[in-house]
Amino acid sequence: MESKIKNLTVKLTHNPKRIPKSSELIFGKYFSDHIFTWDYDPEHGWYNPTIQPYSSLPIEPGIIVLHYGQTVFDGLKCYYGIDSKIRFFRVKDYIRRFNNSARGLCIPEFNEEELLEYLTELIVIDKNWVPQEEGTALYIRPIIIAADNALGVRSSYNYKMFIILSPVGSYYAEGFNPVKILVEEQYSRTAPGGLGACKTAANYAASLMAGEIAKKKGFTQVLWLDACHKKYIEEVGTMNIFFRIDDELITPPLEGTILPGITRDSLIKIAKKENIKVSERKISIDEVINAHQKGSLKEVFGSGTAAVISPVGLLSYRGSDFIINDFQIGEWSKYFYDLITSWHYGKTIDDFGWITILEE
Ligand SMILES: *Cc1c(COP(=O)(O)O)cnc(C)c1O
Repeated sequence: MESKIKNLTVKLTHNPKRIPKSSELIFGKYFSDHIFTWDYDPEHGWYNPTIQPYSSLPIEPGIIVLHYGQTVFDGLKCYYGIDSKIRFFRVKDYIRRFNNSARGLCIPEFNEEELLEYLTELIVIDKNWVPQEEGTALYIRPIIIAADNALGVRSSYNYKMFIILSPVGSYYAEGFNPVKILVEEQYSRTAPGGLGACKTAANYAASLMAGEIAKKKGFTQVLWLDACHKKYIEEVGTMNIFFRIDDELITPPLEGTILPGITRDSLIKIAKKENIKVSERKISIDEVINAHQKGSLKEVFGSGTAAVISPVGLLSYRGSDFIINDFQIGEWSKYFYDLITSWHYGKTIDDFGWITILEE
């Protein structure tokens, strides 16, 4: 079927799947009826954009991505509002970051406006997969893989992009749960000059061992310190991190080793607008521990698309446990969470122009 969007081929499924109920949703377990695929070769550039029934992909065992990890992804959501409209949050910023990650992995860039059109069409086709209960969302996972079937270590000539959709439940079905975090002093996720600012498989592979060890010890995630000095704070698990010390909101600067989170950026912009003192600056683990001892460490939280805000209730460092805000969600954490989610679900209108309503 020719679509109304230029060049896009649409093949609809004849076997729609049962759509899971909101109560059944487990992150990343269910996939919608359709996927988007886009191919790249040096002669055509990105070509053959297609929406087709969800299926497995035929791949050659020698393709570069499987051996050398030349791949990037991103992660965003769309939300079903109280007015029955579907909303994206900062969708163009996510798509731009996806291209930035691609550049970091020597993957050819795509046209961002075109991708937005294709993505929008995919959501329109699978709109019944956007779950409707408050707190739920349709998670969108775009990915590009290096597709040459060749074992030489080099950047691929051919690539494949696809987008898969997965309905996800409320992160906080049982309310906000502050998490316990282990300060990691042995392993590093990235290093200066590495791929820390790209959403790419290598960084997640590098984080698995530390994450598993922390889980065995009863922690949810690790707090990453800088690879060189094990002194300055970088991120928490796969989220950016914020500290409230007295009335200053502090988050580490973007210097190439941490992921430029869209949620992080949103929080900084909201804080500035509300005249909260917000600093993107280096913050050492010693400064955090000292602030805790003086009683000025008011709140610690992670930020990311999955949870928006994830309060940290305990930091464990060199065998000592530091409880934050009596293991309760902090005042600012709650404020940011309520504000952003009220935009997602169309309860209030944001002043930043970050919401796009899906037009069919
Ligand atoms: C995706 C991600 C984040 C959060 O980014 P958002 O755009 O806010 O979702 C932070 N750190 C890492 C390592 C990530 O992969």
